[in-house]
Amino acid sequence: MNLILMGPPGAGKGTQARRIAEKYKIPQLSTGDMLRAAVAAGSDVGLKAKAAMESGSLVTDDVVVGIISDRIKEKDCAKGFILDGFPRTVAQAEALDGMLSKESLKINHVIDVAADDEALVTRITGRMTCSKCGEGFHKEYKKPKKKNKCDLCGGKLTTRADDNEETVRNRLKVYHEQTAPVIGFYQEKGSFKEVDGMQAMDDVFGSLCAILG
Ligand code: AMP
Repeated sequence: MNLILMGPPGAGKGTQARRIAEKYKIPQLSTGDMLRAAVAAGSDVGLKAKAAMESGSLVTDDVVVGIISDRIKEKDCAKGFILDGFPRTVAQAEALDGMLSKESLKINHVIDVAADDEALVTRITGRMTCSKCGEGFHKEYKKPKKKNKCDLCGGKLTTRADDNEETVRNRLKVYHEQTAPVIGFYQEKGSFKEVDGMQAMDDVFGSLCAILG
C-alpha cells in the first residue's frame, strides 16, 4: 500500500502517519523530518534547506525530489510507504509520478486531512514533540504530566523552530498558494479522498482506517 497524506501544516498528518505506519507496518516518509535531520547534521541538503525552513517557505523541488527518490528505493519501502509532507507542489507530484512509474509502482490512496487556518495556528504554536519517541503534546490541549517530559518515555519535549506564529502564517500562505493545487492534480486522477482533520485525533485515525481498510 502506497499512501500520500496531505493537509495544511498542523492538520495532524505526522501524528496520523505514525499511527498508520504502526498499524500497517509500512514506513512513514516525512520530508520535514528528513530535512530537519539534514539541517541538524549540517549536510549539503541541510545547508540548502535551512533558510527556507526557518522562514516557512518551501525547500526547492530538486532537493526534496532527490531525497524521496532515494528513500523509496530502500528495502523497507518494498511493502509500501506513507508519504507525509510530500508532494507539496504540482512539480513534485509530477516528479513522483515519473519516479514511481520507473519502479513500476503506483499510489493507492491520496488522503487530505482538512482543517481550518485559525485552529491550525493555535494548534501549531502550542505543540511540543518528544525528542526521543516522537510523541506529540500541546501546551493547552494535551499537557504532559511532568513539565517538558514525555509521558510515554520520559524524553525531553522540544518545540520546532518554525512553530512560531509569524512562520506558521507564512507556512499556511505557502500551503494555499503552492500545495493546495496538488489536490486538483490528484482529484483529476480519481485517487483523492478527504477526512475531517478537525475531529478528535482518534476519530481522524478511524476515518483514515475506514478508507484504507
Ligand atoms: P513539515 O515538517 O512537513 O511541516 O515541514 C517543515 C518544513 O520543511 C516546511 O515548512 C518546508 O520548509 C520543508 N519541507 C518539508 N517537506 C517539503 C516538501 N515536500 N517540499 C518543500 N519543502 C518541504
